[in-house]
Amino acid sequence: DKPLLKLEDVEIAFSSPDEADIVAVRQVDLTLAAGKTLCLVGESGCGKSVTARAILRLLDANAVISRGRILFCPPGEEAVDIAALEPNSLPMRKIRGNKVSMIFQEPMSSLSPVHTIGDQIDEMIMLHEGLKPKEARERTVSLLDQVGIPGPRERADAYPFQLSGGLRQRAMIAMALSCTPNLLIADEPTTALDVTTQAQILDLLKKLQDDYGMAMLFITHDLGVVAEIADDVAVMYLGDVVEQGNVFDVFRAPRHPYTQALMRSIPTIARKSERQRLSPIKGTVPSAKDRPEGCAFTSRCPHAFEPCTGRQPGRTPIGGNHVARCHLLTEDRLEAEVPA
Ligand code: SF4
Ligand code: MG
Repeated sequence: DKPLLKLEDVEIAFSSPDEADIVAVRQVDLTLAAGKTLCLVGESGCGKSVTARAILRLLDANAVISRGRILFCPPGEEAVDIAALEPNSLPMRKIRGNKVSMIFQEPMSSLSPVHTIGDQIDEMIMLHEGLKPKEARERTVSLLDQVGIPGPRERADAYPFQLSGGLRQRAMIAMALSCTPNLLIADEPTTALDVTTQAQILDLLKKLQDDYGMAMLFITHDLGVVAEIADDVAVMYLGDVVEQGNVFDVFRAPRHPYTQALMRSIPTIARKSERQRLSPIKGTVPSAKDRPEGCAFTSRCPHAFEPCTGRQPGRTPIGGNHVARCHLLTEDRLEAEVPA
């Protein structure tokens, strides 16, 4: 079976008037099967959002997909290379409006403040399914109900500002589902919410994923969220996917020093009291402009040795779909680290 989404050797570059192009994301290979969840995880600025926006061809004007393919293959259809489409072409607009939707941390980036949520969702449904206003409203009410908005028929007449943060997030999810997408891209959708609402929204997304059979590409910097929802995980650092695979394999025995450091920085219940003493990762992520030659993690890696600064490590298969990029692995010098 062809995967729903396959990124092959994707590179994304930003141009600037007075400097050389900056490669923000390089050599990215990702695979997402229909109905599954892939989490992209990493610190801010590592290229997660840029990668997601490239899939929808919603990159800023100064950014280009400078290499690679983004193959999208909904069930029963031919694969399309999204990287080869014009961002505003009809085929791309069809994918964007009908097959792939996106939700964000901030619901107001997809909801209009001047229309009721019901009118906005009705309009999407009429556009995509050619329904009449009355039928569209019935479907809107049922969507609002499915996303857990109480009193959906009355709430449909509310403006976004009249809803709480959690309900607005739910309204945005209803909007994203209105086209029954094959793929939902979720960029930190729970980051701004309190812990309880966050858990409720994650549960809701898991339930909707089952009901709709849609795949999710879920972007987060929170490994707890990854553990909750991922089938597969890809760990990004400064534009590179440094480790990826089945979430169970990667979490049980992370092989890349960066993943190992991330895992150590999560407070477990037993270690919560030690939270203050746990040192996460020393130093900060350099900007993509100052990416070290060779391995991008060199400037922060406690294991860096001589080949690291010279060339970028290749991919080492660990087993199953688990892969990591680190010179220690090719030289067999790094043992799997099992987090306590
Ligand atoms: Fe550290 Fe070298 Fe491995 Fe990079 S390649 S993660 S610098 S040991
Ligand atoms: Mg981001």
